[in-house]
This record gives sequence, structure tokens and C-alpha cells, in this order.
Amino acid sequence: MEKKEKISIIVPCYNEEQSIPIFYKEICKVSEKMEEVDFEYIFVDDGSKDKSFEIMKDLSKQDKRVRYVSFSRNFGKEAGMYAGLSESTGDFVAIMDVDLQDPPEKLIDMYKGIKEEGYDCVALYTTSHEGYSFIRKSLTNIWYKLIDKISNSKQMPGARDFRLMTRQMVDTIISMKEYNRYTKGFYGYIGFKTKWLKYQAPDREHGESKFKLKSLIKYAIEGIVSFSTTPLILSAYVGLLFCFISFIAIIFIIVKTLLYGDPTSGWPSMACIIMFVGGVQLFFLGIIGTYISRIYLEVKERPVYIIKEKK
Ligand code: UDP
Ligand code: MG
Repeated sequence: MEKKEKISIIVPCYNEEQSIPIFYKEICKVSEKMEEVDFEYIFVDDGSKDKSFEIMKDLSKQDKRVRYVSFSRNFGKEAGMYAGLSESTGDFVAIMDVDLQDPPEKLIDMYKGIKEEGYDCVALYTTSHEGYSFIRKSLTNIWYKLIDKISNSKQMPGARDFRLMTRQMVDTIISMKEYNRYTKGFYGYIGFKTKWLKYQAPDREHGESKFKLKSLIKYAIEGIVSFSTTPLILSAYVGLLFCFISFIAIIFIIVKTLLYGDPTSGWPSMACIIMFVGGVQLFFLGIIGTYISRIYLEVKERPVYIIKEKK
């Protein structure tokens, strides 16, 4: 008999004791419908403070398909996904949220997309986020437009982390060992044939979103800095513009002085101009600092995550 192919499901979890058992039940239902493949479930405990880890361990005792990786502290979802991908052994790999916002039954169509239609990857995107605040929705829209203009990594608006990939694609992502990770950008960067399926993201079943506005903004900046150097070059353009304006202003002042003499006035406007230019300079210094801090973190080559226990 031919050996069955295997799908690895990677599930990053941070304080998800309520969601894990429900997720497990749902994913088992799907695996029963997909008899032609074997499954491996890798739960990544991202330094949870609740009983998430104990629950994973119990599940792995009952079901030998269940594996777990437990971090020594919270390293973030990006680290969780990277650990899961690195530990996975399947021929195909999917990353899924444990809160059932990524519906497990979609796996059936995704698998078909790869096996029958010859895609390297099948991914989901959503056009509505009912559960998210107005601010989060609008900032997300602006961000996608911006990143599309300034980076070389095309990104699908509304794309989720949920996708099924071939081993070849997973190995390519694992080979990118950078410390500051923005996985969604990797997909666009590495290419491969991706099929997009549209769906309606349901609300979270239990618990609340772990991503507060502040951490989302940090993540958005990561996405830009990781895949675009445009902000660095921007200062050159603004500098040029300022040179041009000051040139015009100098000519204006010379002509004015020759015609009307030189009464000393205009100190308040001078102070404002100095403050403005100083502000612009500090802003660009900040941008340069952001890039330098990434370089600093990269050269240290610290591990992206630290595993305390795994199976
Ligand atoms: N998550 C994680 N580490 C973190 C934050 C989140 O592993 O530091 C996991 C979380 O347990 C969930 C997934 O990432 O399985 C998505 O998180 P969440 O549902 O809070 O994000 P949202 O759907 O609001 O984007
Ligand atoms: Mg969620």
C-alpha cells in the first residue's frame, strides 16, 4: 500500500484554555472527512499563563497525532508560527488560529486546490471584519494601500495567516531566519502559485483578541520596515524640497532688502521655521533609528524563540 501523505496543522496558542478543546474537536471532524491523508497537530504554547499547556499535553497523551511545543515565555505569534513550521514534518502544512476564526472545514477545499489544481498554496482572505473596531478596520485599509505602493512584496488585503502550503514552500520560509519576522510579507516575497479563497471571518468563539491596537501598530511598522526601504530614501526627497524652498526664500529676501532696506523683524516666524525643520529632521532620524534597531537585533542573532518542552 502506498504511504499516505501528511498534513501538519500548526496552532499558535496564547492563553487559550477555553478554545483548544473546541478547536481539537472541530479539526478531528475534518480529519475524519479527509481519510486520504494523515494529520499531525502541532500546538505551540506561546508562554501561556493559563492551563493551555496542560490541555495540550493531555491531548497528546490521548491522541498520538497531537504534538506540542512550549516556549519559555511569550514570544509572539510570529515566533509561534516559525517554531511550528520548523517542527512540522508533513508534506503539507497549514497555520491556523485556535479561536475558530479560521474555519477548519476549509481545509478540504484547500487540499483539493493543491492536489488537483496544482497550486503551491491555498490561502484565505476576508473582506469583512465584523468584530473589529472602526479604527482597526480603517487603519488596516490605509496600511494595505501604503505597503502596496512602497514594497516589493505584494500583499492581499484581508489575508489571514490561515493557508495550506507545500513542503517546498514551507522549507523556503524556514530558510529565512531573520529575527524580525513578518510572515505575511514572506509569502508575497517568495512567490509560488497561490490560490485565494474568499470567506467571511466569524467572530472569536471564546476569550478576546490578543492583538491590541498598540501591538498591531508595532506589527504594521514591522511589515513596512521588513519589506521596504522607501522610508529611508524619503528624507532625501524632503531635503531636496526644503533646499528648493529655502533657495526661493533667499532670493526673495535679497530682493526685498535691496528694495526696502533691512528692518529687523520676523523673529516669531523664524522660530516657527526652526522648530518645523528641527521636527522634520528628528522624524527622519527616527526612521533611520528604526532601521538601525532592526540591524542591531539581526546582527545579535538571538534565537527567535526558546523551547522549554516539546513532543
Ligand atoms: N497568539 C499567540 N501569541 C501571541 C498572541 C496571539 O500565539 O502573543 C495566537 C492566539 O492564541 C491565536 C492567534 O495567535 O490562536 C490569533 O490571535 P487572536 O485571535 O487574538 O488575533 P486576531 O484574530 O484578533 O487577529
Ligand atoms: Mg482571532
